[in-house]
Amino acid sequence: MYATDVAIVGAGQAGLAMSRCLSVLGVDHVLFERGAVGARWRTHVWESLRLLTPNWLNGLPDSPYQGDDPDGFMRHGDFLARLEAYADMIGAPVMSDTEVLSLAREPEGFCLTTSRGTWRSRAVVVATGQCDLPRLPDHSSVKGVLNLHSSQYRTPHGLPQGGVLVVGASASGVQIADEISRSGRQVTLAVGRHMRVPRHWRGRDIFWWMDRLGILAERTHSLADPEAALREPVVQLAGRPDRSNADLPSLQALGVRLAGRFAGVEAGKVSFHDDLAESVACAEAKLYRLLARFDDFAGIGPNAPRQTIAPVTFEAQAPRRLSLRGENIRSIIWATGYRRDFGWLKIAAALRPDGDLAHQEGAATVPGLFALGFRLLRKRDSHFIGGVGADAAVIARQIRAFLDERAWRAA
Ligand SMILES: Cc1cc2nc3c(=O)[nH]c(=O)nc-3n(C[C@H](O)[C@H](O)[C@H](O)COP(=O)(O)OP(=O)(O)OC[C@H]3O[C@@H](n4cnc5c(N)ncnc54)[C@H](O)[C@@H]3O)c2cc1C
Repeated sequence: MYATDVAIVGAGQAGLAMSRCLSVLGVDHVLFERGAVGARWRTHVWESLRLLTPNWLNGLPDSPYQGDDPDGFMRHGDFLARLEAYADMIGAPVMSDTEVLSLAREPEGFCLTTSRGTWRSRAVVVATGQCDLPRLPDHSSVKGVLNLHSSQYRTPHGLPQGGVLVVGASASGVQIADEISRSGRQVTLAVGRHMRVPRHWRGRDIFWWMDRLGILAERTHSLADPEAALREPVVQLAGRPDRSNADLPSLQALGVRLAGRFAGVEAGKVSFHDDLAESVACAEAKLYRLLARFDDFAGIGPNAPRQTIAPVTFEAQAPRRLSLRGENIRSIIWATGYRRDFGWLKIAAALRPDGDLAHQEGAATVPGLFALGFRLLRKRDSHFIGGVGADAAVIARQIRAFLDERAWRAA
């Protein structure tokens, strides 16, 4: 049996940020990582992926971006190299290839059964990310075609010849549809609720505006409906060197066919809801409200010349039913997001009825158990590379106070 004061589960950006903040406070800890540092950037990404946040926004605690391209967008491999260098720089005590198989409560803390031995700790930080398992709709295993979740897609060349259906039009879906279409394939994109933003507005990157307006740092408890905010789709955006948009009009310009939300498959025919126009109108209304906020902030009146926002065109009727064979669709990419899996967390009191971890701004309902890096954990950018550090600093201080109080009580 091994022991540490704090066990951090996961060595992605969140686990490493917490490691740095605990080290600064002199708190003993160990990180347990089932793969290697930054595992998700090794195994769950397509080859051409670049970060969609600009470099200046991707700082980690005590490690701001200092390269010569602050407005550029890093390739995922370069970000992985950065995470590895960061782990070295901060001397993070990472146990790689060590999966936490179960976490249980003990009278004096916690017991972690790992693939490399049993550990005791006084506190635990869950930093396992958002992306444990693919979130797939019913009927997502379609016969006669290659079915891939977006985390399994690598390049267009890895797909069988023929057309491709991409289901889901958030950041991953639009980027994958764009890449496959440019490779010469016929692509159909099933579009549900989505969020559209331009890469640039009035000469500034969209994240510059969101940062300046304080939108990224907006606290979760100040939002009108935090649960609804959690269900909001990820914005349609790509981090390309030419700073171009990745949205429905840009896909239409490439020849991508848009359909409504995926409804199901029967007898080799895919059906779609008749809701494309409604989804587009809803996304555009939100987009224009956001742009109006930017203009208000900049003191630009409603009559000032506007930057053109390309419309989605509805020249052709969106298809309601497509025959996979008739359209020669040979692959379906499910860009439908992820869900978390807490099957290993054997503390019923820590879980919500839906199986997710119950927490208040990162402090779980069970004393000594903490979370970091989850979407909207404390603020809008809690799951972003550049947002996790501020949360880590606050929660590390809470952990330190928790350990001190326990030590004082035991004395
Ligand atoms: C395609 C994609 C692109 C993104 N692009 C950006 C971007 O450009 N900018 C940005 O700010 N954010 C981006 N994000 C969001 C976010 O930054 C990433 O999801 C990031 O990986 C989250 O970091 P994390 O440390 O919270 O979780 P993860 O990186 O997922 O790390 C969790 C770690 O925990 C480990 N783990 C899980 N369970 C266990 C266990 N039981 N035992 C041991 N180890 C375990 C995993 O192996 C993993 O290494 C993107 C997300 C996705 C999906």
